[in-house]
Amino acid sequence: MPEGSYRFQVGSIYCTVLADGYCSYPSPWLFPGASRVHLAQALAERRLPLETVLSPFTCLLIETGRSVVLVDTGAGESSGATGAVVARLEMEGIRPRHVDTVILTHAHPDHIGGAVDARGRPAFPNARYILDERELDFWTNPRADLSGLRIPQEVAQSIADAARRCLADLRLQLEPITGGIEACPGVTALPAPGHTPGHLAVLISSDGQGLLNMGDAAMHPLHLERPEWENGFDLAAETACATRRSLLGRAVAEKMRVMAFHFPFPSVGRVAARPGGGWDWTPGW
Ligand SMILES: [Zn+2]
Repeated sequence: MPEGSYRFQVGSIYCTVLADGYCSYPSPWLFPGASRVHLAQALAERRLPLETVLSPFTCLLIETGRSVVLVDTGAGESSGATGAVVARLEMEGIRPRHVDTVILTHAHPDHIGGAVDARGRPAFPNARYILDERELDFWTNPRADLSGLRIPQEVAQSIADAARRCLADLRLQLEPITGGIEACPGVTALPAPGHTPGHLAVLISSDGQGLLNMGDAAMHPLHLERPEWENGFDLAAETACATRRSLLGRAVAEKMRVMAFHFPFPSVGRVAARPGGGWDWTPGW
């Protein structure tokens, strides 16, 4: 297995997590509501730096035997530290033209940036690109309301500009959905709003096993332990926290593994309810 890829099976479905790269964010962007003291304590306990969070980007390749599905595309070559997904797919024997379905959990640039190549053409020429209709409507509106974000305004604006540009480049291959869809047998996109209006989670299930890819419904394992700690990138923080709780509750009840795009590689793991509230994260398949 090449470094930056990790392959496992969900029943008879093959899944491979693919590292695209990473970005580092000021800690208050990820935890704007947490008290400085509690946040400093939580980060120190994990031997993590106080001021910045190093946030990996991890996509998911799903091979069902009939379909080749990619969940999220990474950031593309927007910085020197991202854009590895196509190379990692090739190392798995998958050419871009083999991907028949791309599911975009949402249209933030770290998820959609790799959906188009440097010349503005769809990077996966034969794929339908599934995303929620509300996501498309929101980001294609030049007056999208970004007031719920708790990150600097110029960052918010650059996210909106990048989303609008990518969605325009993808327009001929977009397949907007409402209310969730079974993209192919065993792979279902589910509404998981809050982070963005049309944010999707993806459920992979086969032979009694399940994996719930929660996208950005949690951006850091601390959002599981402290589900009330909001994420500054959430457009509607209260809805996002409710979605997070609902997805994690479902994963525990149905004994599913969980994946989260920004969690430390391999970004898959198990969750368990903590007696005092919140969830513990144990990485690995
Ligand atoms: Zn993200």
